[in-house]
Formats: sequence, structure tokens, C-alpha cells
Amino acid sequence: MKRNRAVVAGGSIAGKLAARALSEYFNEVIIIEKDKDADSITNRKGVPQSVHGHVLLKSGEEILEEFFPGIIQELSQKGARKSDFAGDLLWSHHGSQKVRFDSNVFISQQSRPLLEKQIQKRLEKVSNIHFRFGCIVKNILMDKNEVKRVVFEDEEGLITELSTDLIIDASGAAALHNQWLRGLGFGVPPKTEVKVNLFYASMVYKGFSPGSIDWHSLLAYPNPPEIDRGGTISPIEGNRMLVTLIGYGTKNIPNDLDSFMQYAKTLKQPDFYKVIKNEIPCSEDIEVYRFPALRRYHFEKLKDFPSGLLVLGDAACRIDPVFAQGMSLAAMEAKALKELLMMQTTKKRLTKSYYEKVGKILEIPWLIALTEDFRFRTTSGRKPIGLPILQWFVKKVVAASAYNEDVYTQFIQVLHLKKHPVTLANPYILAKVFKDSK
Ligand SMILES: Cc1cc2nc3c(=O)[nH]c(=O)nc-3n(C[C@H](O)[C@H](O)[C@H](O)COP(=O)(O)OP(=O)(O)OC[C@H]3O[C@@H](n4cnc5c(N)ncnc54)[C@H](O)[C@@H]3O)c2cc1C
Repeated sequence: MKRNRAVVAGGSIAGKLAARALSEYFNEVIIIEKDKDADSITNRKGVPQSVHGHVLLKSGEEILEEFFPGIIQELSQKGARKSDFAGDLLWSHHGSQKVRFDSNVFISQQSRPLLEKQIQKRLEKVSNIHFRFGCIVKNILMDKNEVKRVVFEDEEGLITELSTDLIIDASGAAALHNQWLRGLGFGVPPKTEVKVNLFYASMVYKGFSPGSIDWHSLLAYPNPPEIDRGGTISPIEGNRMLVTLIGYGTKNIPNDLDSFMQYAKTLKQPDFYKVIKNEIPCSEDIEVYRFPALRRYHFEKLKDFPSGLLVLGDAACRIDPVFAQGMSLAAMEAKALKELLMMQTTKKRLTKSYYEKVGKILEIPWLIALTEDFRFRTTSGRKPIGLPILQWFVKKVVAASAYNEDVYTQFIQVLHLKKHPVTLANPYILAKVFKDSK
């Protein structure tokens, strides 16, 4: 039997995927989004990071395709570029260049706004999903420890109270659940924060001159602790290239074309500067995004929590964006939610089981990100147990994946959150990592 209504606060990636999962189990799903609806494919104020490159990992892509069959093909028809992850990517990683070969792991490369718009188009075809754009979710109300109503304000300033059986917090960095929980007299969930002071600075270029490159994307990952800066070049629809510079703990953030080029020149990956120096950007401004810290809430540790309040996506955990995990984690959480709804349990049980699942989903990606981020001298926070050994082993795997296709293939599966990192320790891969070690 279907429940009556679910409300989703925030209509971005996590909110949209959650709505799709909910739509099969509720008579009505309402997405309340503070941004207005845009006709065109454009960056939104509520998602300031959307101007920067957004890679969709295989784990996320597969869930997206499961939720919206044919969507990857639709993206390709809109100009997304299909790329072989090992063959079409020029990747310098901790100072070594990865071997390039046909891995048959294909990713779809497009801008974040195109991806989101395409998902929205598919949601608009689901008859019981409704959008309320230009509306701000203000609060939730409870009765006997259960979420009962959501309060929101529309563009005219009209406040509405809507009854609901479930509320999803998909508000991203805003993490609305904090203020709601405080208001309801619950403690704020325990959180872990790790400061990285990362920045992204991006410009869009027209497609590069024909024959100037033999790759689709370039990734110049830093080589910490000495080198804390890097950059990416990746294709987006409209035959354009998105060029991004990054830096950890860096104070000198490029803010004009001159400083952008100067910074690019300092990258140790020589192709990066060489390829952009003669090209002309088509964006006028440099878009900068500062990412001060990774933040993870531990809902699974809470004993007392309102039944029917579920947190998805960045509102639950913001991971270092360099590892491109955020959208895929949101997809995994939406899939977990769908699987739990299928079981038709009580709201209380659903809430508890959901957070147990989220805790497990986040465990490995969080560890992957911290293992790398603590290589930078400027990172601060609580270090994971066994960090030196993890860092040592990953460095060996990275070194071997510069020349060994089997090691790199396995590493790709881990990075795309398709396989557990323990698979890198299987005897065959270990032998390659250590015996061939140069
Ligand atoms: C620079 C950068 C690069 C990144 N690159 C990648 C990448 O390559 N791959 C990847 O997978 N991830 C990447 N990420 C992470 C990714 O952007 C996030 O994980 C993802 O957007 C999370 O989606 P979300 O829906 O949880 O939150 P968001 O996308 O941040 O959306 C939150 C939504 O909530 C709405 N909202 C907020 N408050 C309210 C309110 N009170 N009422 C109504 N609506 C509200 C906002 O308007 C917005 O639409 C990157 C992040 C950054 C910062």
C-alpha cells in the first residue's frame, strides 16, 4: 500500500534522485526548491559548484540509468562526450603518468547543469512528482516523535504548512536538518570535520584546435606534500572544454586571466599549460569556489531522532570534490532508500535502517578522501586509524598503475566505488604492485 505524501527539501541531484525513489511508494512527492525553474541549461544560484567540472562515476551512472533507463544515451544526444576512463584520460598522479589503454570503462562527460536538467525532464514525466520552485523550506513540525508537517515560504512570502509522511533533507551545504533538529529540541548529530582549504577556479574554452590533443580529459593531480596544486581539463557539451585549477591550503587564488595562466604555468604536468596557452576562453569571468572542509554527520550514532526525517547527499556528507564522489553517493543513498521503502516497514524502522545504510555507504569513500587529503601539510582534523600504512599502500598502487594495466584496472574499479579497496590486496594485484615495483 502506498503512503500518502513525501516532501523533498532541495531539488538538486540528491533531491531529484530521492524523488524518483519515493515516487513508487507515495501517492504524491513534492520537491520544494528555492531556485526558480530555468528553461535553459544554466548554472543555478543554489548550486554554485555547478560551474565546475562534475564527473559522474560508474557507480552513480549505473544507478542513474536504473532510475531513468536511456538517460546516458539522451545525454550523448545532447552533446555529452563518451570517454574511456583509462584510454582517453591523460592523468598525472603523485608525479607519475598513468598508462593509457582501452579499459572499456566508459564515462559520460557533460556539464553539471545538463545532467541535472536531463534528470528533471525525466522527473516531469512522472505523474505523481510535483515541483514547487522558488520556495524556501523553513521548518518541520512533529507529533509524538514523528515528522508530520513541513513549513515553506513561496515567492510572494506566503507561508504554507503541508502535511507529510516523510521529509527528505536534500538541501546540500545548507544542511537544514541542523536548524530543524535544534528547533525540535533534539541534539545536533555528531559530525567530523577535516579542514582542507581547497579552491577551484574554472574557465570555459571553445574546443581546442584540431589535432592539438590526443586525449579527451587531462587530470593533473597534485603530488603532496611538496606539490599542493593541480588542474583538470574536461569536455562538456557544445564542443567546449572546462579548464579548472585547484589548490589545497593555497592563499593565492587566481582571479583574472593573467593570474590563471601564471598558476597554470606552475603545474608540473607540462601539457596543461602548453595546451591552453594559445587557446581563448569563451567565459568572461573566472569562477571560484572555496571548499573549506569535508563534513560528515553521524546520524547512525543518534539514539533519539525524529521518525520520517531522512538526510541525503551533501546535507549528510560533503566529501572532497576532487574525488568526484558526491553525486554518486547521493545516487547510492537514493537507491538504499528505494530498497528500504520496498520492504514496507514502519517509519521508525525505515529511519533507523536508512541511517545504518548511509553510514556504510559513506565509510569507504570518506576513508579514500581522508587518506589522500592528509598528505597535504595544511590539512587538519582527526586522522583515520592506520593512516600511514594506508598512504604507503595507495602510493605503491598509484606507482604501479603508471605502467601496469591490471593494477590500474582494479584501481579504477575502487575509485568508481564499484569495488571495495580490499580487492587491491588480492594476491594477483599485490604481486603486480610489489614485484614489478620500479
Ligand atoms: C567544486 C566542486 C566540484 C565537484 N565535482 C564533483 C564531481 O566531479 N563529481 C561528483 O559526483 N560530485 C562533485 N561535487 C559534489 C557535488 O556537487 C555534490 O555532491 C552534489 O551536488 C550534492 O547534491 P545535493 O543535491 O546533495 O546538493 P546540492 O547540489 O548542493 O543542492 C542543494 C539544493 O538545495 C536547495 N536548497 C537549499 N536550501 C533550501 C531551502 N531552504 N529550501 C529549498 N531548497 C533549498 C538548493 O537551492 C539546491 O538546489 C563537486 C562539488 C564541488 C564543490
